[in-house]
Amino acid sequence: MIYLDNAATTPVHPGVLKAMLPYLEEQYGNPSGIYEFAEKSKEAVDRVREIIAASINAKPGEIYFTSGGTESDNWALAGMAEALSGKGNHIITTAIEHHAIINTCEYLKQRGFDITYLDVNKEGIINPKQLADAVRKDTILISIMAANNEIGSIQPLKAIGEIARRNNICFHTDAVQAYLHMEMDVRKMNIGMMSASAHKFRGAKGCGFLYIRDGIKPAAFMHGGKQESGIRAGTENVPGIIGMGEAVRITIQEMQKNIVYVRNMRDYLLYRIEHEIPGVVLNGPRHMRLPGNLNVSFLGIEGQSLLIMLDMDGICTSSGSACTAGTSGGSHVLKALGADDGRLKGALRMTLDTQNTMEEMDYVIWRIKENVAALRDKS
Ligand code: PLP
Repeated sequence: MIYLDNAATTPVHPGVLKAMLPYLEEQYGNPSGIYEFAEKSKEAVDRVREIIAASINAKPGEIYFTSGGTESDNWALAGMAEALSGKGNHIITTAIEHHAIINTCEYLKQRGFDITYLDVNKEGIINPKQLADAVRKDTILISIMAANNEIGSIQPLKAIGEIARRNNICFHTDAVQAYLHMEMDVRKMNIGMMSASAHKFRGAKGCGFLYIRDGIKPAAFMHGGKQESGIRAGTENVPGIIGMGEAVRITIQEMQKNIVYVRNMRDYLLYRIEHEIPGVVLNGPRHMRLPGNLNVSFLGIEGQSLLIMLDMDGICTSSGSACTAGTSGGSHVLKALGADDGRLKGALRMTLDTQNTMEEMDYVIWRIKENVAALRDKS
């Protein structure tokens, strides 16, 4: 099998599994316990807080463990909406966010909040001037993703952070696809809250974190015990958190090397597709793009049909994000770029990671060429 759907999820790194196992077997103490056995779990969880904080230039006390990207996004938006509803009811986001953001915004809209969805240019990048113009007196939150899950476009985070700082508004970024795939520095970028998810960087599913800068106080999202400074109740997912810490530790050391390796492979794949197959459109930017992301439309065919043929060849790809798979109507992200019907229908996303190889790329290109030709012959 050749796995090219790393934006949907990644395999757990062997080192991560090894780090997790003792916390499922012998070291199973509940971090809330006050005897030594339980305190060992708490110490291990707090060490992960330190590792994660160091990786984004934050303080350990600013890291809150969650069940993943969706929860972190929901908490950031709904928590701030609840906490600041007396101050204002306007939230700014973009038209290309993940559904964890869009559907939470739509939920808040039903409860009286006013949502501005910023447009993006044809490469999937917002215009900071439009953001500055959209800010109002009653704006309580700016939520703009760091990098897009479908087309890999990277937003001008520093410029966004600067606008948020000037207007004294919290800037939340969904960094689920970006974290550990590009540099994230919450101080330099003036990020107030940041969502991340372990299974996107070789950790286990069902575990993530929300960075919340000191002084920002979203309402509690889960009510119950006093875990996570009393604002996110529930017994910690200790094995998941330990694994996430190990995934960060392993990845951060090799991040620059990994970025170059994955980007070279992606660029080779794109080069050969563009040069050897006619009727191909690159979706998203050529440069301000996540290193492992490739999204292209093969005009005149159905991306879904190509996906199925590639699956029969042992290649896993996607025709959009994992969360929109199976829904009809085409990707809201590609629509926001102004893509026409042919581009919407013919889209295929391939997301690469370090376990992929150049030999795999040669096989993938060969299979895409043959399958695209066969599908075009049929139509
Ligand atoms: N945000 C983005 C940009 C994503 O790509 C995803 C998952 O694909 C999520 C949020 C949701 O994360 P999780 O799967 O951890 O709930």
